[in-house]
Amino acid sequence: MPDAFQRFDAHVHVGAWQTPDFAGHASDLADVRRVLGQAGFTGALVMPTDDGDNDGLARALAQAPDEPGGPRFLMAAWVDPHRPDDTLDFLERRGPLVRALKCHPSFARLPLTAPVYRPFLAYAREHDLPIVTHCGRWREVAGFEVALEAAAEFPQVSFVLSHMGGDGPTLVAGAAAAIRERGLDRVHLGTESIREPWVVGRAIDVLGADRLVFGSDHNLNHPASFLAVIDALGLSHGERERILGGNARTLFDPARFHANPT
Ligand SMILES: [Zn+2]
Repeated sequence: MPDAFQRFDAHVHVGAWQTPDFAGHASDLADVRRVLGQAGFTGALVMPTDDGDNDGLARALAQAPDEPGGPRFLMAAWVDPHRPDDTLDFLERRGPLVRALKCHPSFARLPLTAPVYRPFLAYAREHDLPIVTHCGRWREVAGFEVALEAAAEFPQVSFVLSHMGGDGPTLVAGAAAAIRERGLDRVHLGTESIREPWVVGRAIDVLGADRLVFGSDHNLNHPASFLAVIDALGLSHGERERILGGNARTLFDPARFHANPT
């Protein structure tokens, strides 16, 4: 079995999208495994789509386990703050399978600081699970500022801000600067959907390569597109390794849960 974190995609969706924006796009676990394998990925953090079907994904992972030589999949549970009991019930039943919690304030139309998210932030703290949270241009709900407010309130929890804090040059720069200024050492930026190498490069200049985590947002995007962005940066071998897997290892590696019992 190759090392999952040799080349790891920390943002991958499995299933069918509900939002009309994505025109009914869907892929099953076999599709996703084939695409990631062909793109040379050895591991990924997989999560449901906006249907929030944690049980469906857990079942699919159990029915079709990782193949020798293929990518190894770790699961993030989708947090639905409108059905908190469903999500908490899933965590109660399948908690050991879960390596991160995925929050999507834009789809939920609720900021991460909303009281209904608190049990999940507390769960992440108790179980040492990173929060992967969507950040976007809807500033009052999904802006990086809101995510950083939650991060400051839960300093023991690691966060990955998807789309590098907001998917635009000024938002990414603002997120990187704010993380540094506020000394939020456990906040990372996920590289999914950033197409401009210079935007990624500036964030590395501010935060260092240790704080970037490669992601593609497959099944919506293709991982090779964003691998090309990283490769265009001309990073040192060590920096590239950390962004493409080393940093994900420190966040999601199942082994670390046994190494640090709490
Ligand atoms: Zn996504």
